[in-house]
Amino acid sequence: MLDVRPIPAFKDNYIWMIRGLRDPAAVAVVDPGDAAPVAAALAAEGLRLEAILATHHHADHVGGVAELAAASGARAYGPARERLPVAVERMAGGATARIESLGLEFAVIDVPGHTAGHIAYRGHGALFCGDTLFSAGCGRLFEGTAEQMLASLDGLADLPDATRVFCGHEYTEANLRFAMTVEPRNSAIMDYVKRAAALRAQGTPTLPSTIGLEKRVNPFLRSRHEDVKSAAESRAGRPLPTPVAVFAEIRSWKDGFR
Ligand SMILES: [Zn+2]
Repeated sequence: MLDVRPIPAFKDNYIWMIRGLRDPAAVAVVDPGDAAPVAAALAAEGLRLEAILATHHHADHVGGVAELAAASGARAYGPARERLPVAVERMAGGATARIESLGLEFAVIDVPGHTAGHIAYRGHGALFCGDTLFSAGCGRLFEGTAEQMLASLDGLADLPDATRVFCGHEYTEANLRFAMTVEPRNSAIMDYVKRAAALRAQGTPTLPSTIGLEKRVNPFLRSRHEDVKSAAESRAGRPLPTPVAVFAEIRSWKDGFR
């Protein structure tokens, strides 16, 4: 299994560090919003940064890319359709990020919605999805439409259930409070609430999740489920005839949920 560890950054971001398959001292990082904690992690263990993968242009995901690339000579990969603070290998859906020095290969998936050119990286049983899919939640629609985001999430839901999901933020507990409100009868959500609380009480990340778990607990992957549809319709006060209409209602409900 791919060796992936979190480097916490800012209030609730995770920068994911991936060990090379050929040489475990050679690593890649995903979404380094801040260079300092990455540099500290590299120095503490004598690691060599070979590659940087960026999912979208927000500063809390790419703020450290330029400094890390300059300091290490690491090759940086990022979304073809977004403007980043530094030159990167421009990746779009269907492309492959080949990191030969680490023996790693990731397929790039287009996942517009949170931002217009957001991409995700998939390979070795893992998915690095930035701010598209969170555990029990999804990213806000800053640049895309509900239709785009639902299509992006549907594509991720089609990945094998065992796929480990590495998201950009530790939002799980807040997301679960919302998920419980939408589906109060879903026992998988209740079980996960207890497990997430126990992990967080020890300061342990709730991530990675898996695609299989997300399909059971994440309201944004469950727009076609009867209970989610009827909860969305009660809130909207009208019938919501399509999965996109249900998804849009759930997303706007979550935007105002405290
Ligand atoms: Zn973002």
